[in-house]
Amino acid sequence: MSSAMCLRLRRWVSPFKKLQLHHNNLLHPFSYYTTIENNKPNQQPLPPPIQVSLTESTGRGVFATRRIGVGDLIHTAKPLVSHPTYSSLHNVCYFCLKKLSNKAQTIQFCSNECREQAKDFYSVEERVDWSAYDEYCRKQGLKYPLLVKRLACMVASGAASAECLDILQPARLSTEMILKMENEFSLLKSCLMNTDVKDEEMAFLTKQWYIGVLARIRINSFRVELAGGLYEDLFLSAVASVDAEASVGNAVYMLPSFYNHDCDPNIHIVWIENVNARLKALRDIEQGEELRICYIDASLDQNARQTILFEGFGFRCSCSRCVYGD
Ligand SMILES: [Zn+2]
Ligand SMILES: [Zn+2]
Repeated sequence: MSSAMCLRLRRWVSPFKKLQLHHNNLLHPFSYYTTIENNKPNQQPLPPPIQVSLTESTGRGVFATRRIGVGDLIHTAKPLVSHPTYSSLHNVCYFCLKKLSNKAQTIQFCSNECREQAKDFYSVEERVDWSAYDEYCRKQGLKYPLLVKRLACMVASGAASAECLDILQPARLSTEMILKMENEFSLLKSCLMNTDVKDEEMAFLTKQWYIGVLARIRINSFRVELAGGLYEDLFLSAVASVDAEASVGNAVYMLPSFYNHDCDPNIHIVWIENVNARLKALRDIEQGEELRICYIDASLDQNARQTILFEGFGFRCSCSRCVYGD
C-alpha cells in the first residue's frame, strides 16, 4: 500500500468510527474523500457523486448525490490489498495484476512503478520460505489466505496499518471455520518466525488478528476479472462479459465494499487492464437513489441466488427481483 493510500485510509476510518459510536441507529450521511479521475489537465480531481450513509434497514449503503447517467464512471478504486491467483502467479504483474505477455518462472512486475510500490511488502516476503503455507493453500484450494499473507507482509514492513480492514464488515464464522483458520494462522506464523523479521515487526500477528482479517476478506474480497477490450464496449453491458480464464486474482477495496447487493443492480464493477476497479452506472440513477452492485452471478435462479447469498454473505435478499419471484 502506498503512503497516499494509508493517508486516505486514516481519513476514512475516523469519521465512520465516530458515527458508529454516536449515531448507530440514525440515518446519517457522511462525506468521504475518494476522488474520480479527471481527464482535463491542471484541474482538481472531482469528488464522486456519491455519499455513504447509515440506514436503519441495511446498515450502511452508498447513495447518489446527483443524477448519474447510464454508462457514467462513478469512481475508481485502488485495492487495500490484492494478490494474483496461483494460476496467474507468473503471467500477471505481482502488484497490479496486469497481464504480461511473457510467462516467467518467477514473479514479475509490469513496470518500475509497480516494483517500487511493492518494494516494502516484497522486501519482507522475499526473506521468508513460504513453501509450507503455499502448499497447504494450494492443496485446499484456498485463495483468501494469500491476501492475509500479503497484508501481513505489508504490515510488517510498515506499508499498511494492522487495523486497515477493521472498518469492513466481518463474516459470521462457524466453529469449524475458526478451527481451520487457526491452522492456517499457525502455518503463517511459523513461516514468519523462521526468518530474520524482527519480533516487534510481528507483534501484530496474533490469532485474533488473523481470524479478524480473514473474516473480513471472506465477504469483502472481489474476484478480479480483467475485461480487456475497449473500454467503450463495456459502457452498456449488463454484466462484464468475462470468462473464468480472465480471473487473475482477488482484491479487497474500501469504498466498493460499502455497496449493498441487488440481484438487479444499477451499477457494476469492471476491471479493464489491472486491479484498479471502475464503478459504472448500468442505468440512469436519480439523486438520492441507493447504488447497488450484484455480489453474485445475476443470471442464477432465485433459489440459487438466495442460497449463495445466505451461505456466503449471511443475508436473505429482499430486492425487487427476489420479492417478485424472478
Ligand atoms: Zn503492475
Ligand atoms: Zn435479490
